[in-house]
Amino acid sequence: MQSLQSLLKKIESSDPDQVCELAGDLLSQSRESGAVQFQVKALGYLAICAKKTGKTADAEKYAREAIELSEQQGFQRELLLNINTLAGIKLVQGKHTQVLELLEQYLPQATQSGFTAEQARFLTNLGIVNELLGHYPAALEHNLQAIALYRQLPKSPNLAYSLHNVANIYMWLELYSESVGYNQEAINLLEELGVTHGQAIILNGLGEAFYLQGDFTEAEAFHDNAISLARETGDYHELADSLLQRAKCSNIPGAEILTKGMLDEALQLCLTSGEKGLQAGIMLQYGAMYLKQENFPQALEALQQTIGLAEYSESNEILWNAYKLFSEASEKSENIADAFKYLSLYTELREEIKGIKVINQMQAIALPFKLRAAHAEAEVLRLKNKDLEVLSKYDHLTGLANRRYLQQQMEVLWQQGSLSLLVLDIDLFKQINDQFLHTVGDQVLKKCGEILLSACQKTGLAARFGGEEFVLLLPEVGLAEAVVTAEKLRLEFENNDWEQEAKGLKVTVSIGIAHSSEKNNIESVLQLADSRLYHAKRSGRNRTIPDANIGSDHSLPTQNTLQ
Ligand code: GH3
Ligand code: MG
Ligand code: MG
Repeated sequence: MQSLQSLLKKIESSDPDQVCELAGDLLSQSRESGAVQFQVKALGYLAICAKKTGKTADAEKYAREAIELSEQQGFQRELLLNINTLAGIKLVQGKHTQVLELLEQYLPQATQSGFTAEQARFLTNLGIVNELLGHYPAALEHNLQAIALYRQLPKSPNLAYSLHNVANIYMWLELYSESVGYNQEAINLLEELGVTHGQAIILNGLGEAFYLQGDFTEAEAFHDNAISLARETGDYHELADSLLQRAKCSNIPGAEILTKGMLDEALQLCLTSGEKGLQAGIMLQYGAMYLKQENFPQALEALQQTIGLAEYSESNEILWNAYKLFSEASEKSENIADAFKYLSLYTELREEIKGIKVINQMQAIALPFKLRAAHAEAEVLRLKNKDLEVLSKYDHLTGLANRRYLQQQMEVLWQQGSLSLLVLDIDLFKQINDQFLHTVGDQVLKKCGEILLSACQKTGLAARFGGEEFVLLLPEVGLAEAVVTAEKLRLEFENNDWEQEAKGLKVTVSIGIAHSSEKNNIESVLQLADSRLYHAKRSGRNRTIPDANIGSDHSLPTQNTLQ
């Protein structure tokens, strides 16, 4: 018994890789000695390990065995723990109805158990599965109950995730300010706890609320941040979700390649992890994209797949959207029978899951929770305003201003007086990504942020305009002086020791420059600088071009003459 106890202690303090092996040892040793409580612990750990490595069938077997033993022995806490684990396994498999049945069966026990943390997790799982099934009132109620319990415990990421779940439900119901409020509190909490897991998903939630209200610029900024963050943390699910949401914003003429690229990457990630619900969401977006492009046969095919996947994973929110688009695509391809059929399916399902009756019911559910939470609200408000300001102004990867904030500041500085504007683009960055790793590409972008930040430390603003393109605003700086600054910057890039990031890495940039006196509005100044950048690229890259009209032969001194 003594040695089993110490083995368990060891497992509890081990890192994840070791846990699985040690749990196997614990299981065989405890079986030999007949120590049931240790068997249950070991099975629980093994279930979680198997789930993490994608062996869902094994995971289910271990969890069920743990559940059975806990029931026989009356181990309440272990029972709830393992029911939660099993629910998690079934959620990944997309077997939502089974999850619901399982959780409802044990709900009375969970409620009476007195184990607050397990009970809260149990309610969260019930909330998640009800949400996926489109049972919004039940989803809201369970999540709000979970939140109330989590608030009694020390602060944890679980509280943030439950807050986000509530935000999601409100979003589906088009109650955007409620949705944003809950997501804001969630992200503040994760930041406070220093937890990155889940942040990208919450940023996407914020982005989506803005997208649905028609504010695409704001939405893009949130999704771009989410993408950078997910690339940084290497979480596949979060990256796939971020790319999907970002693709949604880019479903506009002229951005077809960009949209498709993002969807392809998201789909690939999703196929690897095998998540059917997310895959359904991605296929839906392919459908929307083809529909926009008036490619009806492909739209219908993608939507057919969406419907299959959404039915399989019982994702009703995706399903009604797919019905709607399928009806539209059928109508455009003059298949009126299908257009009508799917339109009816759409109206029926939508009414069922988010009709006015449902909304009224939800408001009644939320009211008592709101009253209870009212005193905490003032504090939350104070926090969220502060943090959101930072999130919505700065690019996560480089720490520079984001495009949205840049555009605001351009107007402000334009009103205040003269300025020079530099557009800087990394040369052949795609090759850097291809030749080295994407993470090296990200490191280059970060370093680029540092260099630019120090270039305009006293006055001015450096911003990430998008991808590998940056803008520098230099107030009260004339064209000639700006050219000198640009040339210094160019050399700084060329001479930086990039070997530190990766062996053989070299980075150069091209820069276009314009001055406010050359145009009568700031957008045109930006365009002018951009056309000069284009010229710099065409005349061989790694150069600064102040005036495209001069022509490449007479362009500014290149590094050779300056050195
Ligand atoms: P040019 O000299 O003409 O500018 O060539 P380029 O390869 O730099 O330009 P292009 O626009 O073809 O490629 C830009 C690449 O930047 C493509 C895209 O994958 C990459 N990119 C955009 N955002 C990020 C990011 O956040 N991280 C990384 N690693 N790559 C990014
Ligand atoms: Mg480039
Ligand atoms: Mg570019």
